[in-house]
Amino acid sequence: MTEVAAGTRTVPTIAELRAFVAERRAAGASIALVPTMGALHDGHLALVRRARELADLVIVSIFVNPLQFGHGEDLERYPRTLGTDVAALAALGVDAVFAPTVDEMYPRGREGGTTVHAGPIGDRYEGASRPGHFDGVLTVVAKLFGIARPDVVLFGQKDAQQVFLVSRMVADLDLPVRIETVPIVREPDGLALSSRNRFLDEAQRQAALVLAESLRAADAAAADGPSELLAEGVAAFGDHDGVSLDYFVCVDPDTFLPIAEDYRGRALVLVAAIVGSTRLIDNAFVEVGRDD
Ligand code: AMP
Repeated sequence: MTEVAAGTRTVPTIAELRAFVAERRAAGASIALVPTMGALHDGHLALVRRARELADLVIVSIFVNPLQFGHGEDLERYPRTLGTDVAALAALGVDAVFAPTVDEMYPRGREGGTTVHAGPIGDRYEGASRPGHFDGVLTVVAKLFGIARPDVVLFGQKDAQQVFLVSRMVADLDLPVRIETVPIVREPDGLALSSRNRFLDEAQRQAALVLAESLRAADAAAADGPSELLAEGVAAFGDHDGVSLDYFVCVDPDTFLPIAEDYRGRALVLVAAIVGSTRLIDNAFVEVGRDD
């Protein structure tokens, strides 16, 4: 490490972040970027800690990106807690928090500018329920790459389809960054940490455990094959009032396409459900089929 954190600065403009990064780059610093929408929890902080291990300079972006929210989604009510977020990041020795306004990022407005298209996998699963979501994600991520010029960018496995599509964009567009994935951070009872968990009341918080339970059920049945694991996973949702299952699929991690009945080996189970009015996602790797 050639750099020592000298305080955490909050940077609201692209020009200021560029200048800061250029100066540090010229001094030989390597740069890690952690893109977030804020309302930080221990899942985000795990990404930041890993970033701190990987690079001299750590930049965390906090931007609730309107492009990735559909009409009628929770853009307005999405939690915004910049003050406490910056304090938590300062405690971890983050060098810069990039917190731009919407106008700063999209001076041509929501519809007026160039966007990235995620391709066919962007229309499945999360993308089927949230049309245009991944185009919005990839557009902001591509912009952040251009602004911060990171060597490494960290994403959580929590958003498995997102990290798949970002990795695919990096490969397809030959972008000069490395993607590092960090495992899902969970509560002791298994609930995956999410900024949206704060919308859950006590009963919904309990009901939300069904997502992790369904993944455990699928894992337990995975040795029997794809249809068994899907049946057991979906069955976990059987008697949960107030929870509506959106999708439960098992995909090949290399293609993100649903696995066929004769598939054997490592696969990724993806689940999304609406608890009350809060949409939650989770996923887990499983080993499909028996060795014999
Ligand atoms: P978000 O603020 O929801 O856009 O998330 C920012 C980053 O944190 C994304 O790369 C997420 O995948 C990651 N993240 C969110 N929740 C978790 C979690 N429970 N465990 C690990 N990473 C997470």
